[in-house]
Amino acid sequence: MSQRMPVLFIAHGAPPLLDDAAWMAELAAWGNALPKPKAILMISAHWEARPVTLGATSTLPLVYDFYGFPERYYQLKYPSPGAPALAARVQDLLGAKGVPVASDPARGLDHGAWVPLMAMYPDADVPVLQLSLPTLERAPLLALGRPLAPLRDEGVLICGSGFLVHNLRLLGQPVPAWAPAFDQWLADAILRGDTDALVRLDHPSATLAHPRTEHYVPVLVAAGAADGERKVSFPITGFWWGPFSKRSVQWG
Ligand code: ZN
Repeated sequence: MSQRMPVLFIAHGAPPLLDDAAWMAELAAWGNALPKPKAILMISAHWEARPVTLGATSTLPLVYDFYGFPERYYQLKYPSPGAPALAARVQDLLGAKGVPVASDPARGLDHGAWVPLMAMYPDADVPVLQLSLPTLERAPLLALGRPLAPLRDEGVLICGSGFLVHNLRLLGQPVPAWAPAFDQWLADAILRGDTDALVRLDHPSATLAHPRTEHYVPVLVAAGAADGERKVSFPITGFWWGPFSKRSVQWG
C-alpha cells in the first residue's frame, strides 16, 4: 500500500498565472512538498458533462478553452501520460455505487487542469485523468467524491480545480470587502469539516462570489473524497485580479 495521498482543491487561475512568478513559485513549492503521486484525478470547473464522464486515457493535445488571450498561451503543451488504470478504478468505484460513468476518449485536459499542473508538475510526468462535473447541484457532487476516497491509498492525488471566489463581472476591480469575508467563511467551514455548510452555501455574498457556481463546486467533490480527514491546511491564500481567491486547500 502506498502512502495515503492528500486531497487538494486548487485555485487554478487562468493562463496569465503562468507569468505570475510569485503564484507559480507557490504552486511549485506545494507540488514539491507533496508525496509524488502515481496518478492525478482532476475535477475541473471547465468540464461539465452528464453523466459523469472520464476524459482521455492517452496523451492528447490540450484544450485551449479560453478567449482573447495572447497567442503564446495557445501554443503551450503539457503532454502528461494518460491514466487508463485509474480510469478503470474510477469506473469500478463509482459503478459499485450505481453511478453510471461515460468515457470521452477524445477529450484532452482543459486549462483548469493544465495551468496549475504546469506549475506543480512541470515535467508532465504524472499520468492525469479528468472527471467531468455531471451537475452543479451541490449535494450530489459531495456524494460523487465520497466513493473516490480509497484512491488516496493507491497513490492517486484527487484534485478539485476552480476558485472559492470567482466573479468575472468584477475582473480587475479592487477586491470588494465581501470577497475576503466570504473566502474566510468558506475556509472556516472547511476547517471544521462542515460539509453541510459547504453544500448549503447559505451566505449573503454567495451569489456575488459565484454568479454561476461551476468554479465553486469542484471543492465539493474534493471535500467528499476527503470526508473525515481532519488535517486541513491552506497552502496558498490571497486574491488575484480582484475578486478571485487564490485559496487552495489540502486535506491530509
Ligand atoms: Zn477557470
